[in-house]
Formats: sequence, structure tokens, C-alpha cells
Amino acid sequence: MMLYESTRGGGEAITSAEAIKRGIAADGGLYVPREYVKISPEEIQALIPMSYQERAKFILKGYLDDFTPDELSDCVDKAYNTRKFSSEDIAPVALLNDSLNILELWRGPTCAFKDMALQILPHFLVKAMRKTGEKDEIVILVATSGDTGKAALEGFADVEGTRIIVFYPENGVSEVQKRQMVTQEGNNVLVFGVEGNFDDTQTGVKQIFTDETVLAKMKEKGLKFSSANSINWGRLVPQIVYYFSAYADMVKQGRITFGEKINFVVPTGNFGNILAGYYAMKMGLPVNRMICASNDNKVLTDFIHTGVYDRRRDFVRTVSPSMDILISSNLERLIYELSGRDAERVSRWMAQLRNEGCYDVGPAVHRLLNEHFWGGWSNQEETLKTIECVYRDYGYVCDTHTAVGIDVYDKYVITTGDLTPTVMVSTASPFKFNASVCKALSMDCNDDEFVLLKKLSEKTGLPVPDGLKDLESKPVRHNRVCRKDQMKDVVMEALGL
Ligand SMILES: *Cc1c(COP(=O)(O)O)cnc(C)c1O
Repeated sequence: MMLYESTRGGGEAITSAEAIKRGIAADGGLYVPREYVKISPEEIQALIPMSYQERAKFILKGYLDDFTPDELSDCVDKAYNTRKFSSEDIAPVALLNDSLNILELWRGPTCAFKDMALQILPHFLVKAMRKTGEKDEIVILVATSGDTGKAALEGFADVEGTRIIVFYPENGVSEVQKRQMVTQEGNNVLVFGVEGNFDDTQTGVKQIFTDETVLAKMKEKGLKFSSANSINWGRLVPQIVYYFSAYADMVKQGRITFGEKINFVVPTGNFGNILAGYYAMKMGLPVNRMICASNDNKVLTDFIHTGVYDRRRDFVRTVSPSMDILISSNLERLIYELSGRDAERVSRWMAQLRNEGCYDVGPAVHRLLNEHFWGGWSNQEETLKTIECVYRDYGYVCDTHTAVGIDVYDKYVITTGDLTPTVMVSTASPFKFNASVCKALSMDCNDDEFVLLKKLSEKTGLPVPDGLKDLESKPVRHNRVCRKDQMKDVVMEALGL
């Protein structure tokens, strides 16, 4: 049986169901599998003719081996289907030119890559609760700065045994993001605006999670809080699948010969997506390099170059907001592996990060890091320029996050001369961040975002994705706004406590 342990060494080893239910370990560490599931070349070859769903079932069963095949099958089929995704391939690989291929992870209901994990996590979670003998109903509480809230709402909407409450900063999300949330359908969903910024909203949610009165009343009612954030193993593991799937598709399309190594470029924020690629490589996928792309918040680029993680810098608001992050939580899992699973050193580095704002992994770990990762960054001007050039040269419209990756890939090729076939991991639809994309394409951007959606569609000939279409005319189902000191009362009332 695969067991999971904390990166900080506390507690006993537990099953995947237990790790998914708990989310974070009691000592503050992240759960990691005790070993990598090995996938043989024959097994990778067998993935080639399979559908995305079949590939997912195969890869997931190694890590979630306390789930029955039927349970896993049910989770996969409910998450990845054409009612939710706009491509039968779920995560298709598009061709940009002779050497660059684009893995489109934004064909899900919210048009960004978080759907790949958040469509399946609710099903894992419900089954994990039942398997571990929990009878309570799950209540998911989310504070969001935009993307995650909508993806979580879509994932949990009408999933039996769950309820979800999302708080967003009333004036801190884009018009499209807000509309996406307040029009959310489903009988178990609630959405509230908060008068305040994202920090206020997040602080409010954190306080409710540990509020004694709330917790006592929830217990009486048979309710239990859980979290859907990106450090949950149940969010990381489904992301491993698409690295294998992309490789299989590359072989299938004749882009590479079987066994040939490839590079992946990943626009990175919290380090979840790229870490899943690292896991795939350690499991046996033929990968040459993982290229880590950052925007102006280039903590990770500096870390890869120096071995020093230093968050002591100004936070920059950029045109690729989902990568505006100074603390990449999932990096903890990587340095745990690279340090030879040395929980003591990881705990020390995390304490230094908390107390001093930086830590140094030392030369040995730094060398290992450089064996597999290359880091680069793209400033905002370069990012917008890349959108323009890619459209002009290849007729492909990419979003700002993907453009960061493509610009960094160009820099990688210039610096290293490496011409290994490469897959660019594309994390959002260009329609999701349409205002910046329109600006990059020198379009008239004076209209509101809803008009720009249509204009972008007219200019590029691409249809507006279903998830963003007709947003302005959809009925608003959640129009309540509260002060930050009212959030607790709002939750109590919503749950009938
Ligand atoms: C969340 C997100 C990212 C960053 O992914 P991580 O797993 O946090 O590194 C990049 N692009 C988009 C569009 C995102 O929503």
C-alpha cells in the first residue's frame, strides 16, 4: 500500500484517502508519497492508443491504491468528460511550429488549468471521507483572488455530500471573474463579496476555520470543514496525468519517436503544476529538462540560479496575475525530495522562510536542482510582445501566462542551444485574460471586458468559450456583500448553525 508522510517528519504515515482528507499535515508539512510509482517504458507505450480518461485511471491507481478501480473510474468519468470540457481529448496538444508544442490545459469549464485538478478533487474527497469512516457532510470554505474560487465552485457544484462557500474581495477581482462567480449554479453553492482586499478575505476565512463556536455547532450538525487549496495531494496527483498524456500524444502524432526525451516549459506560481511534471519524470517519463517560467515576481528564477530562496522583495502586480506569488508552497515537496527526504532540514528551511524571509539549500541540493530545472523570467513588456509575435508568426492566440512561458523558452534556447522537442504547458485560455491579450494585439481596449470578449473572437476567428459566453446576461444568483467582521455570521447563517 502506498503511504504518505509529512515533509516535516511529524506524525505517522497514512493512506492517500487520509492525506486527501487532511489536506495539510498537523506539523504544517505537506504530504508526499513515500516512493515514486514506477511506470515502465512498456506501460508508457500502452498509454499511446488510450483516451485521456484511460490514461488517468492508469496513472492515478499507483498513488491512490486504497481506492478501488471502480471508485477511481467513477471519479475520472465524473471529472473529465465533454459536458465539462470543450475538447474530447481533455488536454490536447496543439502544434505551434517544428519544435514547439502547446499542451492546452484550459479546455475545462472555467478556462484555466485549475480545472484539471479541481474537477476531480471533490470526487476524491467525498470518497476519501467515506473510506475513512467520516459520516459528516463536507463544507469547503474558499477565499479567492479570482481563478481558484470559480474553479472550486465548478468542481463542487452539486457534488453530493459537499457544500461550498466562496468569499471574494468585492473590488479585488476582474469583472469577468466576478460575473463567473455570482452567476454560479448549483444547490450546494454560496458566494459572497467582502468589503476589503484579498488579505482581509483570506484572514477572515482562516479565522472561521479555527473558530471554537463555529466548530462546535458544526459538529452537532454533522458538518466538517475541508480545504481545496493547492497543497492537497488530491490536487497534485491529477496533474501528473497530463504530462504522461502529452508525451503519449507527441508519439502518436509522430512529433517524437518513442523513448526520445522532451522538455516541458511551465508558467509557475505556487510550483504545483511543474512539480507534477517532476514527479512524472521521476516515475519514468523521458524528460530532459523542466523549464520554470516566472513573471516579474521571479523568486523561483533566482532560486534556481543561486540555491537561495528569498521572498524579501516587492510584490509586483502583473498581467499574469495567477503567477503573482512570492511564496511557492509546493516547492517544499521538491526540496524534500532533493535533500534526500531530510525532514529536519526542510523544517529548518521553512522556519527560516517564515522568520527571516529566506533560506539557502546549499551546494549539493542546488546542483541536483540544476540537473533537472532551468529557470527564466519574462517582464510584462516582453510578455505582451510575445503574444503579438506568436499571433503574427503562427496565428496562435495565447494568454499572458502562456506567453511568459513562450518568452522564457526562447531565452532558454538562446542560452543553452538545446533543441530538444519541447511541450509548452499552456495554463489559460486567451479569453480569460482578454483585456491584456487585446492590448497586446493592438486592439481598441476602451470597452468593458464583455465587449472585448466578442471583439477578440471577431479578430481571431476563435469562438468565445462556453464558460465565458453570455456572462453579462446570465442571472445573478449571489448578490450579497458583507463586511469582513460579518463573515463568521454569514457562514453560521448559511449553514443553519
Ligand atoms: C494557478 C495558475 C498558474 C500557476 O500554477 P502553479 O501550479 O501555482 O505553479 C499559472 N497560470 C494560471 C492561468 C493559473 O491559474
